[in-house]
Order: sequence, then C-alpha cells, then structure tokens
Amino acid sequence: MVTSGHDRVRRPRGGSHGMARSAGVADRRVCRAAGPRAGSAASAPRARRRRRCRPRRRRADRGCELRRLRRRLRDAARERAARRTHRDRRRARAAPARQALVSADDVEVALEAVQVGGVTGAAGVGRVVADGEHARGLMNRRVLIGPIDPCGECDVCRHGGAAVCPHVRVRDALGARTTAAARWLVPLSDGLDLAVPAAAAVAGDVTAAYTLYARTGAAPRDPVVVVGATPISRFLIEILLAKGIAPAAVGSGGAWADWLRGKGVAVAGDRAALAAAFAERSLGTRPWRVICADPATVAAAVELAGPRAMLTVLAGRSPPPIAGDALGREVTVLGIAGPHPDLVVEAAAMCVKGEIDLAAGTTLAAGDPLRTRVCEIA
Ligand SMILES: [Zn+2]
Repeated sequence: MVTSGHDRVRRPRGGSHGMARSAGVADRRVCRAAGPRAGSAASAPRARRRRRCRPRRRRADRGCELRRLRRRLRDAARERAARRTHRDRRRARAAPARQALVSADDVEVALEAVQVGGVTGAAGVGRVVADGEHARGLMNRRVLIGPIDPCGECDVCRHGGAAVCPHVRVRDALGARTTAAARWLVPLSDGLDLAVPAAAAVAGDVTAAYTLYARTGAAPRDPVVVVGATPISRFLIEILLAKGIAPAAVGSGGAWADWLRGKGVAVAGDRAALAAAFAERSLGTRPWRVICADPATVAAAVELAGPRAMLTVLAGRSPPPIAGDALGREVTVLGIAGPHPDLVVEAAAMCVKGEIDLAAGTTLAAGDPLRTRVCEIA
C-alpha cells in the first residue's frame, strides 16, 4: 500500500481504534480533494509521474537559489568596491592637509583675514580645515589665531610667562593656511561672534593691549599714564575706561589728541601737565603707573616714571634698551613680549560687548597710524 506524507502528518496519536477511524476520515478527505484514492490502480501513474518530476524540480530550485546567491554576492562586492573608492577619494582629499600637521595636538587653519604689520607678530581669523588626532572638536569652526603657541607645560608658562616660553612656536607671518596648537585657538561661537575681517586684530593688537592692562594690575583711582600713539594704545585706552580707570595720555595735538579728548581722556605733553591733570581728578601724588604701548617711545616713558613708579613696556620682537637711571629711582620695570594667548577670550568678550570698538579700531586701508590694518584673504 502506498502511504502519502500527507496521511502520515494528519494521523493522530492514540489507540488503534481511534487511529483507524481518523485515518479513514483523512483518506476520504484526500480522495475528494485530489482524485483517485491512494493505493488504487488509478492513482499509480500519477504517483510515478510525481516521483519522476520531483528530483528535476529540486535541481531547478537549487539552480535558482545558486543564481540568486551569486547575484547577491556580486552586488555586495560591487557595493564594497564603490564604498572603498569613495573612502579613498575622501582620504586623498584630506591627505595634503593632514600631512602638514606637526603634532596630533595641532589643527590646520584656512585664514579668512589677517592683521598686517604690528609689533607683536602675526594674528588672524580663519576656519579649521584639518584636525590632529588629539584636537577634535574644532573642525569647520571659525577661530581666532594669535602669533604664538607656547608649550603651556613648562615652569615659565606656569608662572604666566607663556609669551616667553622657551619652547614657544612663533608665527611672524600668516599665509593662506597655517598650523596652530588647538589649545590656544579661540572659537567664535556660543555668543562670541565677531565680524570678519576686523576679528583678525583681536588675537593680535587687541590682546596685546589687554595684556598690558592685566600685567600692570591697574585699579580705579590709580594714576595711569599711557605713552605712545598706536592702535594698541587706542585699544588700551578703551580697556582702561571700561575697567573704571581714568587714564591720562601723552599727546601734543593731531588726530590722536582729538580722539583722546573725544573719549574724555586728559592729554598732556610733559610731566608737569600730567601731574596737574591727576591733581584735578583728586588722584593725589601716588607713584604713577606708566604704560608704554609703543616700543619706539620707551625713552619718554622712562622719563615720566618717577620714584617707585611702575613702568610697563611693550617690548615686541626687538626690545628697546631701558635707561639705567630708572633703576636709581626704584622704578619697577615690567616687560611684555606680546599678547598672552590666555587673554584672547577676555579681549574678544570686550569687543563683543562693545567696550572695545573693534570696527572703528581696524581698517583695510594702509597708512592710518591709529588703526590696526587688517587684510582679507581671498
Ligand atoms: Zn612653556
């Protein structure tokens, strides 16, 4: 007797009586649905045909599956190749910039504007286009970049001498691109937005002025004299006024004196006139704090520094000689080599608040001695 798989599946477990009855019911159902009863003479050719066809169909199915599998493998290989090509192209584009990075702490900056000239070195504003392994987080951000990258780790740096760090990296000029240590860059975002190209002066002349103020340690009611008619002097006057200090400045007329008077600053040409200006403001006869923002006018600043005065001098790249008689008057001389990179944030914040008029203090034109010249990089 021929028993179909269909019958075996449907046969219930249990006693022989129940099994026979159930099998009978199933057989009748199969007969009604599929034609001749299994095992009958009429069903034999059909069963033979089914046995002959089944292996062929299985072989055909296996062939289809293989073809589908091969197609899937081919598609996956093509996809992998396309992905690899795209990645290689991306790496090739990034390769020249990454090769320029000296250290994993560096980033590559594409400059948008730079400060031109100045006594403290190069400064600018630009966008980070490549980052080192340890300098993630600045990619594509606009940053302020100053003239130096101190190590930040040595004892000189730890004692506030970052500008004269023995391991400092100095940028005397900036091209279209430059490498810089990520830790000293100041990103312009999160409320610290400054217009380009004026922002190029912030990490340069503006921070140099702020460093002169911060290192002098001047407080309101201190008699402070500013010597030198430069863009740094201009920013310094604005900083002192914003900090509640009423400075006097050395001047004899012209645009510088006019600008000072417009700000309510006393202008005088000699020591006696300056003393009179301080007396007028009831600042007494305390030793002065003389800040020299122009290395070329150090001699005049030394003359003004009386007994026990404090003389702060912007030394720049070529420090001027200091007259020995200042030591005889016990003048405390403080040299400032350049803008301190830690103070860029404070200087930028004063520009954002409008305490420093950055737009008025910078210019694209050449030949203005009272404004910092900035230049856009195409
Ligand atoms: Zn250092």
